[in-house]
Amino acid sequence: MKVVVSDLIGTPGAHRQDQISLEVAAVMDAAKLEGPVTGSVRYDAGVRDIMASGRMEYVATAICIRCLIEFDYPGKATFSQLYADDPQSEDVMQIHEHGVIDIEPPIRDEVVLSLPLSPVCRPDCAGLCSTCGTDLNREPCEGHDDVSSSPFAILAQLLDPEDL
Ligand SMILES: [Zn+2]
Ligand SMILES: [Zn+2]
Repeated sequence: MKVVVSDLIGTPGAHRQDQISLEVAAVMDAAKLEGPVTGSVRYDAGVRDIMASGRMEYVATAICIRCLIEFDYPGKATFSQLYADDPQSEDVMQIHEHGVIDIEPPIRDEVVLSLPLSPVCRPDCAGLCSTCGTDLNREPCEGHDDVSSSPFAILAQLLDPEDL
């Protein structure tokens, strides 16, 4: 996303704030984003550089790691990126001709990092029964005989291998 900051360049101390919206697509194991990322970005002019910083919000689609339902995950990400005419390090990005900077890469990076690795649909999600798969948020599991009290286990005890 290209932004013109020529009005700020060469005016140390000058700043401007813009509302922006851009599309970011990212797919992680348990979360997927394919919608707009919105927020407010502030541009601060230094002597020979521009600092862009902002706070972004988005809604991703996540899969609860406990009960496996899909839910909307509201996410937030902050970023700040320095731009210069003549970047002296890899951390600084280029100010292009006519005072144009690209704010998409730093925003995309921070948004991807902010996607949840182990999302849960709600803090008290009960998850699925590991034996029968019942969604314990909707109905309780009736329980399972543990293996040692099942008819087959009892039969196995009665049949002593020595007698066979
Ligand atoms: Zn859940
Ligand atoms: Zn169960």
